[in-house]
Amino acid sequence: MQYISTRGASAPQSFSHILLGGLAPDGGLYLPAEYPQVTGAELDVWRTLSYPDLAFEVLKKFATDIPEADLHALVHKTYTADVYRNVRHGEEAARITPLRLVEEKDGSKLMLQALSNGPTLAFKDMAMQLLGNLFEYTLAKQHAELNIFGATSGDTGSAAEYAMRGKKGIRVFMLSPHKKMSAFQTAQMFSLQDPNIFNIAVDGVFDDCQDMVKAVSNDHAFKQQQKIGTVNSINWARVVAQVIYYFRGYLSATTSNEQKVSFTVPSGNFGNICAGHIARMMGLPIHQLVAATNENDVLDEFFRTGVYRVRKSAETYHTTSPSMDISKASNFERFVFDLLGRDGARVRALFQKVETHGGFDLSGKPGSDGDEFKNIAQFGFVSGKSTHADRLATIRDLHAKYDLMIDTHTADGVKVAREHLTPGITMIVLETALPAKFNETIREALGRDAERPAGFENIEDLPQRFEVMTKDIEKMKAFITAHTGL
Ligand SMILES: *Cc1c(COP(=O)(O)O)cnc(C)c1O
Repeated sequence: MQYISTRGASAPQSFSHILLGGLAPDGGLYLPAEYPQVTGAELDVWRTLSYPDLAFEVLKKFATDIPEADLHALVHKTYTADVYRNVRHGEEAARITPLRLVEEKDGSKLMLQALSNGPTLAFKDMAMQLLGNLFEYTLAKQHAELNIFGATSGDTGSAAEYAMRGKKGIRVFMLSPHKKMSAFQTAQMFSLQDPNIFNIAVDGVFDDCQDMVKAVSNDHAFKQQQKIGTVNSINWARVVAQVIYYFRGYLSATTSNEQKVSFTVPSGNFGNICAGHIARMMGLPIHQLVAATNENDVLDEFFRTGVYRVRKSAETYHTTSPSMDISKASNFERFVFDLLGRDGARVRALFQKVETHGGFDLSGKPGSDGDEFKNIAQFGFVSGKSTHADRLATIRDLHAKYDLMIDTHTADGVKVAREHLTPGITMIVLETALPAKFNETIREALGRDAERPAGFENIEDLPQRFEVMTKDIEKMKAFITAHTGL
């Protein structure tokens, strides 16, 4: 399996080659040269597999340059009941991503697929845990090391740290805005005592942290010398690891391959739902993929109108589903490549237009950049939007009716899913975090604290290990050099 760039001007590469990298040299994102297909006979066999065995079957179609025995060992090390243990009452850890029926209406079931039972209580663990093991494996083979340098406002940074802690050949330097994360998120990250994890609290806001990451990334000599890498959401291995749970969800919700299901996905950077698109392109019988956004509705606007318009900082809202507060959707280019019939030159032109004009228009109206939006239904995409008031109402409703507590991102999903039910077709909402992570809004909605999984009761009282730093690039570089010894 070879991987090509969405901008059509980079040489094809193997899975292992793109694993540790980011963008393709031409500025595009990597995708498989063609999507591997699954047959009905395969689905029949896969239906009864355990999560790691299913992961092995899916991944071996993509990671063709990793020996199968090694891949098998890696997935069995990753998807264990011990890693995904934060299950709720009635769930089984060994199922890794258990399904739960919420309600049934007009012959259509609404189900939740729990993706948040991993160490940081958000779905990013699903991919990041695999990434940690894949990185360690690949670096050991190449006798190489990697220093991950990133900025976080919450979920990504903690998922990366919990995936990379204790891994040989890897260090993590993670910037976060000092005293700006929730107490829970701060405690989750800063209580890690592993010597290969460095938490750096920057006196400033999240954008200051990102500026520092950019400044270091633009210093190519430093980057090379210090073996700096990232784990951001465009990483192909993260996307492909997310494909697995669409298969698991479908196979658990159905009894025959004649049935279809729809998925609603709380969306920000389009990473999670992009994996659903790939599963569908592989032949998984998905009826619709419903993108649910919060007030930051870049994606909802596109799927309603064909106009992609990135937002300026001042138009990017801080909401109570903060992991979806984005100004542009960094994985969206992968879908646009398929929508445009894989025409790399046109993708390049459109995303250059995003840089110069802030967006593009595929509505087919006079003066637009194309008319491919007319083909959107063929890819199954629809969308909807949810607001703070919707989140509160949905959290209250599910709690009152079903004694079920959901987080704010999942609430955006449930709100939009209820608007897109098709009679006779099961709708699966991906649960992207547990409510304990966003306790402030749970208190606002329900007047009580969110349930906390065992072991997290007193997390705020644990000793914390972090450095406070001003926004000083040279000091930052000196800190990295001192701790890598390179
Ligand atoms: C990251 C995140 C999302 C958004 O996922 P994308 O892949 O960026 O679309 C939604 N919910 C939670 C809790 C997240 O952490």
